[in-house]
Amino acid sequence: MTYGGTYDEQRYSSLAQINRGNVRQLGLVWYAGYDTNLQQEGSPLYIDGVIYVSTAWSKVYAFDARTGKTLWEYDPKTPGQWIVNVCCGIVNRGIAAWDGKIYVGTLDGRLVAIDAKTGKEAWSTQTIDKSQHYSITGAPRVANGRVLIGESGGEFGVRGYLSAYDAETGKLDWRFYTVPGNPKDGFENDAMRRAAKTWSGEWWKLGGGGTVWDSIVYDPVTDLVYFGTGNGTPWNAQYRDPRGLDNLYLASIIAVKAETGEYVWHYQETPADTWDFDAVSPMMVVDLTLDGKRRHVILQPSKNGLFYVLDAATGKLLRAEPFTEVNWTTGVDMETGRPRVVNAARYLHGKVFDGLPGGQGAHGWHPNAYSPQTGLIYIPTQHAYSVWVTDPHYKPSIVGYNLGINFGAQFTYYRTHPKAPHGFVGYLEAFDPVTGKVVWHSETNQGPTGGALATAGGLVFQGGGSSDELRAYDASTGQKLWSAQAQTGVLSGPITYELDGKQYVAVSVGGNQFAGFYAPNYSRMLVFALGGQAKLPPPRPYTPRPLNPPPATAPAKLVDAGRARYSQYCAACHGENGQTRGASFPDLMRTPLLYTQDGFDQVVLKGVLSDKGMDSFAAVLKPADTQAIRAFIIARANELKRMPQFGPGPGVEGLRVRGGKGG
Ligand code: CA
Repeated sequence: MTYGGTYDEQRYSSLAQINRGNVRQLGLVWYAGYDTNLQQEGSPLYIDGVIYVSTAWSKVYAFDARTGKTLWEYDPKTPGQWIVNVCCGIVNRGIAAWDGKIYVGTLDGRLVAIDAKTGKEAWSTQTIDKSQHYSITGAPRVANGRVLIGESGGEFGVRGYLSAYDAETGKLDWRFYTVPGNPKDGFENDAMRRAAKTWSGEWWKLGGGGTVWDSIVYDPVTDLVYFGTGNGTPWNAQYRDPRGLDNLYLASIIAVKAETGEYVWHYQETPADTWDFDAVSPMMVVDLTLDGKRRHVILQPSKNGLFYVLDAATGKLLRAEPFTEVNWTTGVDMETGRPRVVNAARYLHGKVFDGLPGGQGAHGWHPNAYSPQTGLIYIPTQHAYSVWVTDPHYKPSIVGYNLGINFGAQFTYYRTHPKAPHGFVGYLEAFDPVTGKVVWHSETNQGPTGGALATAGGLVFQGGGSSDELRAYDASTGQKLWSAQAQTGVLSGPITYELDGKQYVAVSVGGNQFAGFYAPNYSRMLVFALGGQAKLPPPRPYTPRPLNPPPATAPAKLVDAGRARYSQYCAACHGENGQTRGASFPDLMRTPLLYTQDGFDQVVLKGVLSDKGMDSFAAVLKPADTQAIRAFIIARANELKRMPQFGPGPGVEGLRVRGGKGG
């Protein structure tokens, strides 16, 4: 009934009808389509014969779990232009349920309660200041009649907080800010007063950051709510804090009282974070034996590549071990709880740092699972580099990212340094939280890999990301026992449930980042059971657009000016080659708009595609800027076309150029 299966969010099911012995007989029972080909990240809920799931654009579907019939569809009608405030795709990761209502957070910051029977809106409340660059992509949680919800926006510049609303009425009950505001306005509580001593400069002007964009866990044993906080704004600590202080409570796990939102403890994973090491990755509450003592702990495999074990009641650090290769730290001093940061990692004095993990993190939002049978946690792991270098010309901007780094350098650096370690692969890893050892890991796929589910059948189900597969592994050995083709990316967390005495597995699929924005749509809910005989219709024939840009005739100076503006205003969505988040954003290398400056400006300056999510950038870009940006895109497209391995045909060149080696 709740995100992660139970309050502790272990994503472990006691169902064992589907098990190691018979999982090969698992087949599709039904599927149901969604209305977009955007990336799907939503964990479904199963309640009394109905599957509820949130999809792209914060929409919610209810399906009859027996037949797949759509019972209702809810569309919060998020204004398209709000997407200019969204860092990482038009996505939604999940919903909450309580007493006949389904709760969803919308991209434009509303928390909406939907009648679970009818799909009609019961109430809706604005959780953000709409003059700021906030959004919501994470799942709400419900505890004791309160809906808990956070927000995103740390890449742009906002002040993070966690809010609790009355589940029945939508009235704000309490709010806990994660970073201090302007001291002149006074502090909300002692926690903010203490935190302000760890900041210098005028951080409040950009909000500070510390958004609560994914993990929120309620623990009935301690009656505490634990949540993770994101990066600071800007990313680059040299611009954020002139004295280089720790900046509480960025990149931290915080515990507050569920009744009042009052601060209880915090642990900061990455003091003075300068690498986008959000501490928001999914965490869970587990009872296990550490050093001969039974303990009630929190587990988190963090973006920074370290696996944290904290005492749930006190926040005391019990373990901090790398769960994958890292090069920014040599480990954590267990006395102080602080990571020993490698000098070069802070990219001071204009130096470049090729970081592992990079900004994508060693583990993102993708749900982990824990099996009490094996004592292992199953982590969707990322082995992904990125380049850190200060942008010497950085000035805070009212539109687009505020990072303080040269974001485009992560693309250009690897072209000019082909021997530098690089690449981005994902895989599932089974990790022993007691010994700190990796027990097994799966095959790899390009880019991120999908969320996990563990069952008492001795299985781990997991989406293979861009491999387009849902897979089942032996939870003890990692042997791949079963897989099913989804025809699209499988990134979200699968669930399992029993209905009429039969066990089912359900997963929301959609958005292979290599397939491209113009590819046909296969975003769906897929439901499997033993002996299932249903078949997906064959994929539709599809020929990707050719790479056929106009000739590059602009002077190098104009192209260079365009590269700098593209890096700040465009690359977050459109990537190096116009297609970083392939299924979510159009490929600019292949757009016909490259042929006409007027057409290009209609979109970029006049905002004619605003309702689709491409708002006008006229507040920060002038016609001379868009001429430079268009010249840069044309130059880059011609560069790609000249590469012998690609030519004018279709391809996913950007990511392949950067290589699939990684590990
Ligand atoms: Ca972040």
